[in-house]
Amino acid sequence: MLFPKSEEYESRCVKRKVLLEALANELPEGTIRFSSKVVHIELSGYYKMVHLSDGTILKTKVVLVGCDGVKSVVGKWLGFKNPVKTSRLAIRGLTHYPQGHGFGKKFFQFYGDGVRSGFIPCDHNTVYWFLTHTSTELDEKTDPENIKEFVLNKLKDLPENITNVVETTDLDSIVMSRLKYRPPWELLWANIAKDNVCVAGDALHPMTPDIGQGGCSAMEDGVILARCLGEAIKAKGESDDEAESYKRIEQGLKKYAGERKWRSIDLITTAYTVGFIQQSTGKWMNLLRDKFLSSFLSRLLLKKSHFDCGSLVS
Ligand SMILES: Cc1cc2nc3c(=O)[nH]c(=O)nc-3n(C[C@H](O)[C@H](O)[C@H](O)COP(=O)(O)OP(=O)(O)OC[C@H]3O[C@@H](n4cnc5c(N)ncnc54)[C@H](O)[C@@H]3O)c2cc1C
Repeated sequence: MLFPKSEEYESRCVKRKVLLEALANELPEGTIRFSSKVVHIELSGYYKMVHLSDGTILKTKVVLVGCDGVKSVVGKWLGFKNPVKTSRLAIRGLTHYPQGHGFGKKFFQFYGDGVRSGFIPCDHNTVYWFLTHTSTELDEKTDPENIKEFVLNKLKDLPENITNVVETTDLDSIVMSRLKYRPPWELLWANIAKDNVCVAGDALHPMTPDIGQGGCSAMEDGVILARCLGEAIKAKGESDDEAESYKRIEQGLKKYAGERKWRSIDLITTAYTVGFIQQSTGKWMNLLRDKFLSSFLSRLLLKKSHFDCGSLVS
């Protein structure tokens, strides 16, 4: 199925490395400390003592924000459970075309027979593709050559220019991972923020990749968190009162948690539902999907990304 072009919405493919470098380059040199694995968090009055695997202990002065991914140590400290594993596996790859791929800016998506796949140009010379499935033929230890063969077999009925994308993919760009998500109801009563600690990104809302919003919503978190903290710090003014500062930060984080809770629940639930319907093998569900839901689901994918999280400064 060709993904519908929409006048209202658009999707853009951004390479993770490029995005990370752009964000890191905005920070003063030395702000980021690499290879620092957090293993334990300890309370010490208004402060948190963050223990690293090499024995170093860092003392948080203002706030501790856990952006430490799906296995978040900070999330565990706040009381979150481990994300739930689904029976679905995602295969992803990148294909380089030195002479240009010729797909323009179109995003192609296909689904049916328990498989969902997509092909998205990143730039003039690169196409990113993915395939999700529930097959038990593969597991996380399968080598890239067999994964590629599996994908080509699943996509054999698609047009040749699409299967060629997979055929010409470098084996070392192929990755496969089991999909995980946080059951949305867990967020109803969870502590997204407590004291001067909070979580953001996958640590807060790991979701299945069906609407491509995991990384995008992590950036939404970042903007809203920065705004809430900025307001709290600005309100502090010249006051040196530690208890008052702490209270303001705590309130800023509470505001952030309130703003992100329902958005997180919405995204996790939508992603799971879209994936469930698009990858279904059931006869009736397939009929319903192909006859009535396909354009709605494709539109939903674009619509959910159209979220205004406001500006950094209020
Ligand atoms: C192959 C792939 C394709 C994806 N495609 C899309 C897409 O198309 N669109 C989209 O929006 N999202 C996509 N996602 C999801 C997106 O990448 C994630 O949602 C996003 O990276 C979450 O960002 P994060 O910073 O919260 O977590 P992560 O990117 O997981 O970063 C967590 C960081 O914390 C570090 N860390 C982990 N544990 C510790 C610890 N104990 N101590 C210190 N540091 C720690 C890790 O080393 C890492 O640097 C994709 C994910 C994958 C894997």
